[in-house]
Amino acid sequence: MARDHLDRARGYLASHDVDALLLLRPENRRYVTGFTGTAGLALVTRDDAFLAVDFRYYEQAELQAPGCRVLRGGTDPPGALAEALRGRNVRRIGFEAEFVPYAQVERLREKLAPADLVPLSDVDRLRWVKDPEEIAAVTRAAEIAEAAFAFILGALRPGVRERDVALELEVFMRRAGAERIAFDSVVASGPRSALPHGRATDRGVEEGDLVTLDFGAVYEGYTSDITRTVVVGEATARQRELYALVWEAHERALAATRAGATTREVDAAGRAVIDAAGYGDAFGHALGHGIGLDVHEGPPLSPRDETVLEPGMVVTIEPGIYIPGWGGIRIEDDVVVTADGCRVLTRAPAELVTVPR
Ligand code: ZN
Ligand code: ZN
Repeated sequence: MARDHLDRARGYLASHDVDALLLLRPENRRYVTGFTGTAGLALVTRDDAFLAVDFRYYEQAELQAPGCRVLRGGTDPPGALAEALRGRNVRRIGFEAEFVPYAQVERLREKLAPADLVPLSDVDRLRWVKDPEEIAAVTRAAEIAEAAFAFILGALRPGVRERDVALELEVFMRRAGAERIAFDSVVASGPRSALPHGRATDRGVEEGDLVTLDFGAVYEGYTSDITRTVVVGEATARQRELYALVWEAHERALAATRAGATTREVDAAGRAVIDAAGYGDAFGHALGHGIGLDVHEGPPLSPRDETVLEPGMVVTIEPGIYIPGWGGIRIEDDVVVTADGCRVLTRAPAELVTVPR
């Protein structure tokens, strides 16, 4: 896997007028080298690859990154990298402008001089199209999240605290093989369900509440990200009606997801349904986003993005409606883009699920 990814990074060099690509973002560093440590400088040139790490990671780097020349940097990995580059014809080094803090850029400029540091804004794009191994890992992460949802329905009842629901989700996913949860789980009940990212609180779930659960698992580094909305006890007509509306938007967006479609078109397919029903203002976020080593990566499925979808991209489809004081409904599934459509990795229920009171 890492070998192909190294080749991909070299292809990127050729198309960006730089002699080397410096990778500091952990997801990018891991993607290209295989190294999972939390610190280190990976640098890819046309015919070489370096991984400069501090004392803690000497052995791990050798084991995980066989395609790289591991530089033992002691307390100064950037210095070790500068040393290794001396005398080589590396003049323009691209770096992740969206990720590296300004002060760090300044320090690196000094260390790596006379080479120029060239800001690049699209390095993460290397990871957007997934290979079969990556898709298998996301698929497993998605299966774990779906199983957790089925399990948690048994724990949702009046009186249970949101944070205990979040904890049960986490324990279930860890037991099912997740190395960790993908992000702090959203468990937002009653009026709090109108908060698109309402982290779990001490609030006790009440009868009649909408409960939004947004969570995911990480498996072999790859994330899943799903949202389910349920009602505790009997659902009202309005709750069912708005769930059906969000579901329709979700289905239209799924139907529009295929290689060759733009991200804006997929967003528009879902958004049009909500707009037509008069709830356009209640759906203020993008329709979805890529997932992979990061839980929020590209491409964004947003009205302001024009990425052409490619086979192997893995994205979420997550329309929602949020009405302050009343509550919110979001439905989020994970899909793999294919040549003529998409393969759905998770499947939200078509009907609003009600759990016994
Ligand atoms: Zn989510
Ligand atoms: Zn999401």
